[in-house]
Amino acid sequence: MILLTPGPSPIHPRVQAALARPLRGHLDPETLATNRRIRAALGRMFDPGQGALVAAMPGSASLGMEAGLNNLADQGEAVLLLVNGAFGERMVEIAQAYRHDYTVLRAEPGQPIDPEAVGRALAQRPYKLVALVHGETSTGVLNPAQAIADLAREHGALFMLDAVTTASMMPLSMQQMGVDYAFTGSQKCLSAPPGLAPFALSQRGREHLGKARGWYSDLARVAVYWEEEGYFCTAPVSLHFALEEALNLALEEGLENRLRRAEAMHRAVLGVLEELGFQAYAPQEARLPTVLVVRPPQGWDEAELRKGLYSRGVSIAGGIGPTAGQVLRLGLMGESARVEPYRVFFRALGEVMHQNRLEETFLERVGWVQV
Ligand SMILES: *Cc1c(COP(=O)(O)O)cnc(C)c1O
Repeated sequence: MILLTPGPSPIHPRVQAALARPLRGHLDPETLATNRRIRAALGRMFDPGQGALVAAMPGSASLGMEAGLNNLADQGEAVLLLVNGAFGERMVEIAQAYRHDYTVLRAEPGQPIDPEAVGRALAQRPYKLVALVHGETSTGVLNPAQAIADLAREHGALFMLDAVTTASMMPLSMQQMGVDYAFTGSQKCLSAPPGLAPFALSQRGREHLGKARGWYSDLARVAVYWEEEGYFCTAPVSLHFALEEALNLALEEGLENRLRRAEAMHRAVLGVLEELGFQAYAPQEARLPTVLVVRPPQGWDEAELRKGLYSRGVSIAGGIGPTAGQVLRLGLMGESARVEPYRVFFRALGEVMHQNRLEETFLERVGWVQV
């Protein structure tokens, strides 16, 4: 099965081999040495500046989201949540569960968050924390993170960025952008197995940590394991081995090169799909390179297309939240942003839609053929 969903993404053979290495204990010297290398690599990926806490929590990306909101704001503290899709709405559910004094600023699904509206909200009252999803996976929209980070800083708020669909596939410097907490999931752009939530918390973020409620998402406890090398919980050591290799692959390739690869694939895949009558959901100026969200052509049902592809060994996603039942979602993350899996995708799609030569059209468009 070829995984072209927006996570999990396909795993490189080097990562698969790392996953199969003999198990060690979570406090074994070799595991701890792996952890130190993971911290160094994540430091290069997030660039959070001096004194940051850099680690990977045992859980999916949603744990990274929950931990950020839980640790950076106490019960009753003011939080501004910027929402334009299903993952933004997840932040609202978490803020509700932790009883934050939250305000939600929404943009229409398919549209990016408007920084001017954020500026107006921030002028109305003080906020402890502003939280944004960088690339909204439900709609394929890339939000203007830099402009919003500047506004948060100007108004003295901490800034949390869900970088799940961007980190490792785009250069992201937390210290240059002004991000206090960013997180991702191992199974998205890093193309590692699911189960880890890599994150970075800036020095400034550490100085403003609240009293975390709960236990497992308490970042002070996570730091005991990753920084003091003491016991917090039993780490998923095999996943650490795999994550290290996935980080090596990303950094060897270079984040600028990865972004160019995602953009080139996005252009080629969308170009062929547009010729068939598919339409991108997000406006051109706000498209996320790593998740392509398209409406099917007239007369085609998204579920029917997915079923046809699945029976030919290609797994893609339908809509979620505001796009449920309306769109197809294609991952261009890590190992999915490559010619070979999309060649298979277009061959299968050609069969489903009774179109000849789709595979060839794609290869001509992408401009190079991978052996
Ligand atoms: C996938 C995703 C999440 C949640 O990730 P899980 O690993 O499924 O918990 C959060 N935010 C964004 C933007 C995502 O794409």
